[in-house]
Amino acid sequence: MNPTDTIAAVATAVAPGQGGIAVIRLSGPDAEAIGRAVVVCPGRQDWNSHRILYGHVLDAGRSRRLDEVLLLLMRGPRSFTGEDVVEIHCHGGVIAVQQVLERVLAQPGVRRALPGEFSQRAVLNGRLDLTQAEAISELVAARSRRAADLAMAGLDGGIQQRITALRERLLDQLTELEARVDFEEDLPPLDGEALLLELQTVRQELLALVADGERSDSVRSGLRVALVGRPNVGKSSLLNRLSRRERAIVTELPGTTRDLLESEIVLDGVPITLLDTAGIRATQDVVEQMGIARSEQALATADLVLLIIDGSIGWTPADAALLARIPVGVPRLIVANKADLQQGPCQEPAEVSVSALHGDGEEQLIQALLGACGAADTGGMLLALNERQRDLAAAAAAALARSREVAEQQLPWDFWTIDLRDAIRALGEITGEELTEAVLDRVFSRFCIGK
Ligand code: GDP
Repeated sequence: MNPTDTIAAVATAVAPGQGGIAVIRLSGPDAEAIGRAVVVCPGRQDWNSHRILYGHVLDAGRSRRLDEVLLLLMRGPRSFTGEDVVEIHCHGGVIAVQQVLERVLAQPGVRRALPGEFSQRAVLNGRLDLTQAEAISELVAARSRRAADLAMAGLDGGIQQRITALRERLLDQLTELEARVDFEEDLPPLDGEALLLELQTVRQELLALVADGERSDSVRSGLRVALVGRPNVGKSSLLNRLSRRERAIVTELPGTTRDLLESEIVLDGVPITLLDTAGIRATQDVVEQMGIARSEQALATADLVLLIIDGSIGWTPADAALLARIPVGVPRLIVANKADLQQGPCQEPAEVSVSALHGDGEEQLIQALLGACGAADTGGMLLALNERQRDLAAAAAAALARSREVAEQQLPWDFWTIDLRDAIRALGEITGEELTEAVLDRVFSRFCIGK
């Protein structure tokens, strides 16, 4: 990547016919010149930084107006990327935006931005650290308020501070060790016990962060829960009740099967896609069989299958038949509905009893559901390392565990420094203090264009 060129992309969501405005973002040394070439501002308007200008974008022949726009100039370094940035606020909708973007890209010295390239420049120019750039991407993708809160904690620098503090503690120990390697005779003897204790304390803190991060995955990426049950046990009623809680913001999820009835809800901060697999029953009908194949696929890939029975009837052979259809290894929760009615003779093996009609047992159901997916108790969590950050924190912890083995074998000091350096490097890759091409690639390859 060449940071001396100027890049441009649509920075807002691109959805046909949606949104009143769209923003095209330019960043780089020619951003202002390109803005001036593309946007014609009437009257006397000064091109001052951090001010809004009003104008029109004309076609290449300068005869036809393509859009009426606002232009925001932010000269570096006071901009998102640290470079000169121009935002052109045009009208939403695919055609107008594309025409304006084409006009921009037709100018010399500018090219289309790669995915994540704006954020990458912001990191390279020291405007954002790596964990903050990741947090922005997570905030954009958040599907529940809690996911957004966790992303904001990252954006506020929470992860950066925690990891930097741990890394500095390791650097302190490394300094001590290195001094001993070089000038053993001139210095007071090193307290190996204390050093080891410090390394193991840092290791424990890293492991705790990794474990918290794993639990937060459900908040970040959500869970898929399949709902099965005989007709009339109250599946739709239960779904309706659960949907009345915090509503998910997302309506369209990419790659979801539309044949199954899917609803997106949020339970205790965890986004949940509920799949109603009503089609699951024996049939000769070919079309329905296709539906069934999909339902079974949905069951196999679900994080949890919720089997609903009618508590007023009790456990029946038909319920047992449904239970047998749930693929081995998929967590399941059996729920007896209609707790408000006179209960049937046999409730076994139902684990939770609810009334979809009146709401009794709703809280217990939610906790049991989240617990069965390993997603309970995400509420108190303040920070959540993503997968990349967790891999590196775990690698650092493993290096620190090796240092204990070295200590037990009574090896010389310079052997200790090897593992310690590994741990420090891994933590530096989390924060971006160690920025390699591979680190940048891993972080920014997942971003969308325009970020
Ligand atoms: P589905 O076919 O499994 O989706 O079942 P529905 O949600 O359509 O419910 C079937 C019938 O059971 C409806 O008449 C509901 O009003 C009733 N029902 C659902 N849940 C309850 C409940 O908790 N208590 C009582 N008394 N009736 C319920």
